[in-house]
Amino acid sequence: MNRRGFLASAGAALSLGVVGRRAARSPDPVVVRVWFSDAAAAHDGLEARVEGYLGAALEAAVGAVEIDFAPSPVSLPAENGRRVLAVHWPAKVVEGAVGMGDVDPVADVNLLVTDGDPREQPAGYARPRVAAVTGAKYVARMSPVAETPPVVPYSVRAAATQLLLHEVGHALGIGHENGSAERDGDALVASPMIGSYLWAPVELREKQVPASNTCGASIPEDPSASERRLRLRYGDCEAQALR
Ligand SMILES: [Zn+2]
Repeated sequence: MNRRGFLASAGAALSLGVVGRRAARSPDPVVVRVWFSDAAAAHDGLEARVEGYLGAALEAAVGAVEIDFAPSPVSLPAENGRRVLAVHWPAKVVEGAVGMGDVDPVADVNLLVTDGDPREQPAGYARPRVAAVTGAKYVARMSPVAETPPVVPYSVRAAATQLLLHEVGHALGIGHENGSAERDGDALVASPMIGSYLWAPVELREKQVPASNTCGASIPEDPSASERRLRLRYGDCEAQALR
């Protein structure tokens, strides 16, 4: 997309709200462009996993989706940390949108994947149209999406993969309030917009997880369920908000 197109659509997003653009049910695909840090790019299979999991989740939620990968990696001052994820990367995207630097942004989501440790906070960051996640090493170790059920036991690999869906969801305008969690026997299953916050220490959990979502479903509070599972597709309430 050209510069004027990006700025015009960014302006429209400011006046309509980011969710409003998709509410028109435009037949255009959701376009996601992905950049890897130098260290992330060294992991074989990362591109296939990002494309597989993000593609499967977005296709099920919104229909048409286009995911492409920047031709060369991005050199970052660090792989982790708020400064890189929340300041450096968004600035690169904005610079690219006005024709400075070598990042060529797209209209919907500009996603950076780094090799930072996803167990450190912040593991990711997003604002409208821009997302950044750590965890490249772990995502690269996931089995292929075609061999993986949509709900999986909690693991760092699965949490890092779900984090992709979480931050891309934010970049497309949805939030924790659209997330869901449900009991399945002894297990609690967290959707991408709730994710690992479901099992966070109570103060963090209360800050990040709503008592009930925008679709009126309550989020189970009992952290004593013996098994933790992660949903690697958007839940119904999330998908509805994405459309
Ligand atoms: Zn979030």
